[in-house]
Amino acid sequence: MSPLETLLREMIAGNGPLSLETYMTVALNHPAHGYYVSKMPLGRSGDFITAPEVSQMFGELIGLWSAAVWRAMGEPRPVRLIELGPGRGTLMADALRAAEIVPEFRSALAIHLVESNEILRQCQHRALTDTGLAIRWHAAAGEVPDGPAIIVANEFFDCLPVRQFVRTAGGWHERLVGLDADGRLSFGLAPGPVPGMNMHGEPGQVFEAGLAAVHMMSGIASRICRQGGALLVLDYGYDAPQFGATVQAVRRHRFADPLRDPGEADLTAHVNFGALMRAARAAGAAVHGLVPQGAWLVRLGIYERAAKLREKASACQKAAIDSALRRLAGEEGFPAESMGRLFKVLAVTAPGLPVPPGFETAAK
Ligand code: SAH
Repeated sequence: MSPLETLLREMIAGNGPLSLETYMTVALNHPAHGYYVSKMPLGRSGDFITAPEVSQMFGELIGLWSAAVWRAMGEPRPVRLIELGPGRGTLMADALRAAEIVPEFRSALAIHLVESNEILRQCQHRALTDTGLAIRWHAAAGEVPDGPAIIVANEFFDCLPVRQFVRTAGGWHERLVGLDADGRLSFGLAPGPVPGMNMHGEPGQVFEAGLAAVHMMSGIASRICRQGGALLVLDYGYDAPQFGATVQAVRRHRFADPLRDPGEADLTAHVNFGALMRAARAAGAAVHGLVPQGAWLVRLGIYERAAKLREKASACQKAAIDSALRRLAGEEGFPAESMGRLFKVLAVTAPGLPVPPGFETAAK
């Protein structure tokens, strides 16, 4: 049993069941044993692989996107380039290398990384020392100093905890994590329905609410409206309202039981983009997207970039480039594995900015 499971069992035995949101928060962010505090989640030897780890093209295109947005913002100096949850620092390293072709942008940059994981902070430090740029780390987005900002979040919003509500004949009941007769962690429902929650639903249906994500979006969107800039979100998720539980645990590249060994597995939920877009608009920001990640990367020129890389590549490298292209951008023929289809891209900008690259036909 993981140390955190022992601790959670004790918490529940002493104080009663926890909401799923609290359970996820403890499992992911407990100061000593939380998954995003103490583990090395990414890479082949970790639990999952992300787009920047698949290919350098991903971060490079985001670097060029950022330079274009900076120009549209009126070229402020300094501009804060903020990454939420930068993982191993790969995306930022690739973005900054690509940005060398726009030297005036690169020299205007102040880099801010929002990261809770000490092991990953060290990886980021190693990945970015050669850039020669000053880099500051923060535990939360709200700690980044004021000023115009371009903010990038790849697979970050899915890490934020959610609550779940289950429809019964008597109304919507919150899903809780309690203990079964043998003292093991198990799912249950709050005894009483949530007062005032009266939307329609069939018995058994699940409704998920990611308040932490919405709160985060509200804060960032109002910052952008006051101080200028843009936020780019890339993640898996959905746009239209939907029912269904999407919380999942992944360990060593396989799905796992979310109640088993908390702190040892990645726990995520699909991002409710519709809710994020409403929160951004309510804060006064302009919203662009959603665009499927594959289509967005194609509009930004991923095929042209791949052709350029292929020119100097060995046969083996060419095969890797083609496989990365299919994985990141392929929409047809790769329904299950393709990030191009599963992942979506959203941009939130200060009102008055032109439509950012890749969203031209998708402005709402
Ligand atoms: N963007 C990276 C990593 C995605 S994994 C990539 O694409 O490869 C999620 C990242 O968010 C990790 O770096 C994790 O440590 C960080 N993270 C998760 N929850 C966080 C929180 N509440 N505060 C700050 N960072 C967090």
